[in-house]
Amino acid sequence: MSDFARHLAGLIRADGPLRLDRFMGLANAHYYATRDPLGAAGDFTTAPEVSQLFGEMIGLALVDHWERSGAPSRIRLVELGPGRGTLMADLLRAARVRPAFGAAAHVTLVETSPALRARQAAALAGTERLDWAEAFETVAADAPLYLVANEFFDALPIRQFVRSHGRWHERFVGIGADGAFGFTLSPALGPAEGAGGDGIVEVNEPARAVAAAIGAWLNRTGGLALAIDYGHARSAPGDTLQAVRAHRFADPLAEPGEADLTAHVDFEALARAAGATAHGPAAQGDWLRALGIDARAAALARARPDRAETLASGLARLTDPAEMGTLFKAMALTGPGGPLPAGFGS
Ligand code: SAH
Repeated sequence: MSDFARHLAGLIRADGPLRLDRFMGLANAHYYATRDPLGAAGDFTTAPEVSQLFGEMIGLALVDHWERSGAPSRIRLVELGPGRGTLMADLLRAARVRPAFGAAAHVTLVETSPALRARQAAALAGTERLDWAEAFETVAADAPLYLVANEFFDALPIRQFVRSHGRWHERFVGIGADGAFGFTLSPALGPAEGAGGDGIVEVNEPARAVAAAIGAWLNRTGGLALAIDYGHARSAPGDTLQAVRAHRFADPLAEPGEADLTAHVDFEALARAAGATAHGPAAQGDWLRALGIDARAAALARARPDRAETLASGLARLTDPAEMGTLFKAMALTGPGGPLPAGFGS
């Protein structure tokens, strides 16, 4: 057992089983604080690490919306969970087609991991008006909001409610007779009324709180928020808690703090919590194509024939339905009366 797992076991021995969201929150905080999890040598690879095209298309989508909103001279450009800072660097480079966008932007990165903050500072060296925040809710909503969150909401801790024999229980993590972590259920919370058999319902409370803050900001100042993640367009029951380590699925309880714990994003719940105008979610492949990723890849390949193969394989990985094209989805939120965001049809 790692020191961290021993620490969790000590908490359980002292106070009893940990509610799943507490367990997941503690495990992920340790996981992200102690490593750079991304890339071939890490545990998982994200879209911005697959190809520069991803961040570039997002940059162009934000610039397009900003311009059609009257090109405000001050905006907040916020990224939630920026990883290595690659997406923001690619976004800002593509946004140079309209220098006034970069000049208007105050960039805030919402990141809790000191290890990843250091990576982000290196990737964005030379960026003016750049700062960090621990939580989105602490960022001053003093200008139109332009926000991007890629694979952020899936890392936030969920609660799971289990319907069994006509009653609801909540999932906790305890320690079994064998000394290993294991799921336990709370005593019954109450009767499970209505239709539906046994099953699990997930609730991501921090995701809903962040979405509500985003929506309130957009409704006040306008702007555009883009959330890209894997998940489902409509709320649906099911256990989606998973752990990924070294590019493979792992047991979520086996080595807490050593694997990335995630759950599918419920886009319908996010949109409802935001209370702003929602567009999509669209399949990532369809959305990137509608934004013009094919033309951009072709233009870059003409300029840099030596990179044509890399660009083509990155494009395929981002858009192919058998790769990230369908499982991953993009949703946009806008304020009332704002322009329609590009990429979502009409
Ligand atoms: N967006 C990046 C990284 C995704 S990994 C990419 O696409 O490559 C998840 C990111 O969210 C990491 O940067 C992680 O440190 C951050 N993160 C996880 N939980 C967080 C929290 N509660 N608050 C802020 N950042 C968090």
